[in-house]
Amino acid sequence: RAKQEGKARYAVFDHRAQAKAMLEFELEAELRRAVAQQELCLFYQPIVRLKTGKICGFEALVRWKHPRRGLLVPGEFMPVAERTDLIAEIDTWVLQSACQQFQWWNTQGLSQQLGTVSVNVSGRRLAQKSFIEQTQQALHRSGLSPHHLQLEITEDIILTNTQTVVSSLEHLRALGCKLSIDDFGTGYSSLSRLHSFPLDTLKVDRSFLLQAARQQNHWSIVQAIINLSTDLGLSVVAEGIETNEQCDRLRQLSCSKGQGYLFSRPVTQEKATQLLRANQSYLEPVVCPTTAL
Ligand code: C2E
Ligand code: MG
Ligand code: MG
Ligand code: MG
Repeated sequence: RAKQEGKARYAVFDHRAQAKAMLEFELEAELRRAVAQQELCLFYQPIVRLKTGKICGFEALVRWKHPRRGLLVPGEFMPVAERTDLIAEIDTWVLQSACQQFQWWNTQGLSQQLGTVSVNVSGRRLAQKSFIEQTQQALHRSGLSPHHLQLEITEDIILTNTQTVVSSLEHLRALGCKLSIDDFGTGYSSLSRLHSFPLDTLKVDRSFLLQAARQQNHWSIVQAIINLSTDLGLSVVAEGIETNEQCDRLRQLSCSKGQGYLFSRPVTQEKATQLLRANQSYLEPVVCPTTAL
C-alpha cells in the first residue's frame, strides 16, 4: 500500500517536473522566434547626478513585447536565455541597439549631459571570446566612442572565472569602455581583490536601501560602500531609490549618482528622448553648507 502511494507521489512529481520542462522548452522556442522577429526592445532608466538632480546616463534594460502576454521583464525570460545559446544573441543585440540609440541622441545634440549608456552583460557572455569582437563591432557600426559605453557586470562573475574575466575586462578597458560592478554587496567578492579589477563604478544593490529603511544601522553599510568607492577612485551609483528620505540620506553621504523609481521607472526610447529634451532637474540643487548660513 505504502509502496503504491509512494509510486503515486513519484508519478505526480514526474508529471510536474515534466510539465515544467515542457514550459521551459516552449518558452525557449518562443524566445528564439521572438529574437528573430524582433520582439525584444530596450527600455531606458535614467541615472541621476545627486548634486544637480540631472540625468547623467541611462541604463538599457531589455523587455519582450510578447504578442499574447504583453510586456515581459528580464526575470521572466532571461533565465532561459542564460541556459541556452540565446544569451549571446540577446546580449549582442542589446549592445548594438544601445550604442545606436546613444549615437542617435548624439546627432540630436541631446547627449552633452549624458556621460554613458549602461548595458548589462551576463557572465557567460563575458567569458566568450567573441564578446570583445562584438563590442568593437557595435562601437564601430554605431560610431559611438567607447568611453560612452558602460558595461555592467555582476559581482559573482568577477568571482567565478577570475583569469579569463580579468583579461576580458582589461581588454574592454583598453578599448576605452567603462566598467561597473552591478548589484554590489550581494555577492561575496573579497574587498581586498577589488583593486585588481579595472573598474570605474560600483552600483550599490537595491537591497541595502530596503534594509536601511527598516533598520537605521544599515546606513553604515551604505556609507562604508560609498567610502570604499571614493578611496578606490570609483564612482558610485545607488540603485533602487524610491523615497525622498533615502535620497536625502544618500546626498548627505556624498553618494554621487542614483537610480530608482523616485526619479523614473525604465521608459521607452521615445520617453527617454523627451526626458533629455526637457533636461529638468529631479532635485533641488545641493546648497553648499557655508553659504547656507
Ligand atoms: P539590474 O541591472 O540591477 O537593473 C535594475 C533593475 O531594478 C531593473 O529591473 C529596474 O527596473 C529595477 N529598478 C530600478 N529602480 C528601481 C526601484 O526604485 N525600485 C525597484 N523595486 N526596482 C527598481 P529589470 O528591468 O526587471 O531588470 C532586472 C535584471 O535583469 C537587471 O538587474 C539585469 O541584471 C538583468 N537585465 C536587464 N536587461 C538585461 C540585458 O539586456 N542583458 C542581460 N544580460 N541582463 C539584463
Ligand atoms: Mg544593471
Ligand atoms: Mg543593478
Ligand atoms: Mg539589481
